[in-house]
Amino acid sequence: MKKVYFKTFGCRTNQFDTQVMMSKLREFELSHDENSSDIIVVNSCTVTNGADSSVRNYISSMKRKNPEAKVILAGCGSHSKGEGLFEDKKVFGVMGHSEKEKINEILKLETPFYQIGDLKHIDSTIVEDFIGKSRAFIKIQEGCNFRCSYCIIPAVRGDARSHKEETILEQVRKLAANGFGEFILTGTNVGSYGQDHQTSMAKLLKKMSQIRGVRRIRIGSLEPIQIDDEFMELLNEPWMAKHLHIALQHTSDKMLELMNRRNTYKTDFELFHKIASKGYALGTDYIVGHPGEGEQEWKEAMERVKELPLTHLHAFSYSKRDNTVSATMKPEVRGNIAKERHREITEIIKAKNFAFRRKYNKNLEVLLENGKDNTYYGFDQYFNKVEVKSQEDLSSNWVLLNNLEVTDDNNKAKL
Ligand code: SF4
Repeated sequence: MKKVYFKTFGCRTNQFDTQVMMSKLREFELSHDENSSDIIVVNSCTVTNGADSSVRNYISSMKRKNPEAKVILAGCGSHSKGEGLFEDKKVFGVMGHSEKEKINEILKLETPFYQIGDLKHIDSTIVEDFIGKSRAFIKIQEGCNFRCSYCIIPAVRGDARSHKEETILEQVRKLAANGFGEFILTGTNVGSYGQDHQTSMAKLLKKMSQIRGVRRIRIGSLEPIQIDDEFMELLNEPWMAKHLHIALQHTSDKMLELMNRRNTYKTDFELFHKIASKGYALGTDYIVGHPGEGEQEWKEAMERVKELPLTHLHAFSYSKRDNTVSATMKPEVRGNIAKERHREITEIIKAKNFAFRRKYNKNLEVLLENGKDNTYYGFDQYFNKVEVKSQEDLSSNWVLLNNLEVTDDNNKAKL
């Protein structure tokens, strides 16, 4: 049997896609050693110019280390760089996103191939990924209809399309029956779930919550404009994790416009305060150093960040991606300035998170993961990390904690 090695670059979605491909292999052996494999499938990422170079460098290094192996390019890079790499004979074959489930047949091809497929397909395999034995990630949709200036994703993953509701619920039923209590919904633009099937995220959540064993549901990320009245009504439900990640990307209106975002600061401000008043922790994504972010915009943006009830942050330093609108914008922000801004916003949110943890220090429901040396880690309903010391085996257990020690980095408890 020929041996196949998978090399995955990029985000969680790509990791899911690798699992889809692995699950479809029939007449091949999965290998853990790239140097002795017959075939290397590179599930690539193309999110920035840097990501493209990493993929190209990996392919060249494999040509040197294992010249006999057939290198197949898959993933987002196949849609942006596949044609060039194929024509230059850097790869034996190229397969697009829609071809993943046919991988067993594709890998049997004896002659070079370029099978890019289309960007409308949705896999029939729903992949789950697990943390320990109790938290499961479920991918519920694919693609994005937004056209943010800095992002290449719609061009390489296509428009938003959802998995079928029944397939998702079936999966959740199966996992809940096997002891999974917490479910995390993921996708490229998770909040757009359902639009193509005349349903909504809120309807899916309600149905999921009725499944026996489902104790807590988290949503990977939402866009401000996706939070409608139907969704707001669910915020008091006991099974909703009391933390939402809502992608703002910026708080200067000029920057939001340059980024072609659909949110504005005024409505974001109202939305965040409304949700926080229901006892929610709130996280966001924030891009620092996008072209056009002058001193004045930054100053205003940070004044606004201070006004928002934010508790968690994913700050990204802008990185150029050719073939996006942002890549042509000027003036660019110097790397050292972007770095300093990244540090500044991180510090602001860190202080807000600390204050939140001091305030919300009671009735914390924590699902613990596997422990080591009597130390267990888990997340509470507000998505704050908790460290628990205990002589008992608490792996995969839910614990209720009160009055923990709140330190700079996390919350600590002894049981
Ligand atoms: S919402 Fe914007 S940043 Fe996110 S995937 Fe869609 S286009 Fe890209």
